[in-house]
Amino acid sequence: MVEERSCDISVIIPVYDEESNVPLLYPKLKNVLDKLGKNYEIVYIDDGSRDNTFNELSRLHAQDNRVRVIRFSTNFGKSAAYAAGFRFAIGDVIITMDGDLQDDPEDIPLLLGKIKEGNDLVVGWKYEGRGPKSKSIPSWLFNKVTPLLTRMKIHDMNCPFKGYRKHVAKNLADKIYGELYRYLPLIARNRGYRIEEVKVRNLPRQYGQSKYGVSKFLKGFLDFLTILFLTRFTMSPLYFFGTIGLISTLIGGTIVLLLYIQKFFFGINVGNYMPLFTLSILMVIFGVQFISIGLLGEMIVQKDRAHADDYTIETILK
Ligand code: UDP
Ligand code: MG
Repeated sequence: MVEERSCDISVIIPVYDEESNVPLLYPKLKNVLDKLGKNYEIVYIDDGSRDNTFNELSRLHAQDNRVRVIRFSTNFGKSAAYAAGFRFAIGDVIITMDGDLQDDPEDIPLLLGKIKEGNDLVVGWKYEGRGPKSKSIPSWLFNKVTPLLTRMKIHDMNCPFKGYRKHVAKNLADKIYGELYRYLPLIARNRGYRIEEVKVRNLPRQYGQSKYGVSKFLKGFLDFLTILFLTRFTMSPLYFFGTIGLISTLIGGTIVLLLYIQKFFFGINVGNYMPLFTLSILMVIFGVQFISIGLLGEMIVQKDRAHADDYTIETILK
């Protein structure tokens, strides 16, 4: 008989060179989970660690059959780790947290409570101070700018401590790559899921090193443009490119027209306005190109059947 694998809670933890943290986090986590009186599993994703992390995880796996370990062949990053974890996990609720003891397992019941209230995704909010300045400033900026651009009122979108209903996590698994894991709530929002946030503690890192420096934020910002574009305009690229293209063509075209009217009716040489003339011709060329890109985009969307599931059905009454 094939046993249907399922449990109440899966905790997903990406770890990359966290040998000193693994043995410390496990007992704390187990303590909290045991108290809940539910079935659970802990899924570690070893993201290509080069230290002793995998051995530590194997040891946990040997002593506790609720510990599962996915080991990547090399360092693929957090998006890949989450995607693998989401696909593998069998819990009705899926919790993600970091493996460096910066998230406090004691906060897990808070996340579960919000899910129980009927939310599909619960995002932790580390409202207390952050780590070193080099990171707290970019992260403060990130947290200020993102809500403005996305019109989404989440304080700490990138907080690793989150809770997902199973179907939400399964759905998101196919959508994350690069640095996009930072924007999971945004992707979820655009799919119409109910999202709530809850304040969680922010503990300092004691062992091992942070894997993220300031440079990641640039990559992160470029991915942000991707997500903004993909979530707003994937199905209608012509709206995006065409609007810019049309405005540019219209302004450029009008100026060129005015210059020629001047020439034919008043004999004023177009050459007198050379810089303006050049600029408006450029605007026309630029505009036509943008419209063409938009049309090409529309053709790609037409061909790409992968978008067939780009909606979320909540209920069907039959
Ligand atoms: N991590 C990972 N793959 C990476 C980088 C980080 O799995 O390529 C893990 C890391 O081991 C930790 C979590 O992701 O459990 C958060 O990383 P880190 O603490 O370095 O980030 P920070 O908290 O400094 O933003
Ligand atoms: Mg950390």
